[in-house]
Amino acid sequence: MNLKAIAPKKSLGQNFLIDKNISRKIVSLLEINNDDKIFEIGPGTGALTSIILENNCNLTAIEIDERAVIDLKSKFSENEFPNFTLINQNFKDYNFEKSSEKPLKIIGNIPYYLSSEIIFKLLEADINIKCAVLTIQKELAERLVANANSKDYGILTLAMNMKANCKIEFNISPQCFYPVPNVWSSVIKISFFEKAKQIENYKEIMKIIRLAFNQRRKMISNTLKINFNKINYNEVDENDKAKIISLINKRPEQLIINDFVFLYNIFSNFSKIK
Ligand code: SAM
Repeated sequence: MNLKAIAPKKSLGQNFLIDKNISRKIVSLLEINNDDKIFEIGPGTGALTSIILENNCNLTAIEIDERAVIDLKSKFSENEFPNFTLINQNFKDYNFEKSSEKPLKIIGNIPYYLSSEIIFKLLEADINIKCAVLTIQKELAERLVANANSKDYGILTLAMNMKANCKIEFNISPQCFYPVPNVWSSVIKISFFEKAKQIENYKEIMKIIRLAFNQRRKMISNTLKINFNKINYNEVDENDKAKIISLINKRPEQLIINDFVFLYNIFSNFSKIK
């Protein structure tokens, strides 16, 4: 690993994984099959890349740091690795190509500063993703798998619940990275539901969830007041009325994703979601 060629930049969240066993353990979670399409975010010095390329698969990797790109290109030449494509770009600006081919498998030891944004981008991407194996800060991982009524439960958890299952696979000590970060990491596996089983109207439902959680100590009768006020109760059937009554005085952390879907369906009968 050419750590000397690339002095780690804090601003890019560069903590390079230096434990080969852990790299293998992470890549094995992808369960790579022949001809799989893999997409790596932030390959850096190639800790995961080199192991992925031991398989017969197609790998595209996106890296913002030109120094790392030059280094990776010299290690994994086009001649020797014709199925490897390296893109020198900010992942934030990257547009996934829509394709009806095999679903993508995504992997990355992703920079802490960008982890939430990357996860939201994957959840919102209008493409076919099978799974994502990501190394992220342990605290963030705990938010992704949190149960209702806990302090970690929130916008990220509910966004995840709409599209996928998320599991914490194992934790990684700071000593496995160079430079040593001051937090523990977790490796998570996000297994996306088939398209037909994902909850529709993600963006609209997220608007409601964000409104409610922006003031998470308040009851939703207060934070979603504009939407509740528009309901014409003469047009709501008795079961739905009872459900509204059971939810209206709760705080958002007491609601599960199906409750928010229910509220969306009721609200959208009476007005555009505000
Ligand atoms: N995968 C390598 C490893 O495991 O050692 C590097 C991991 S390091 C935590 C994160 C990597 O993401 C760095 O190589 C960094 O340059 C890259 N990176 C940071 N911000 C990025 C962005 N916006 N788009 C693409 N890559 C980025």
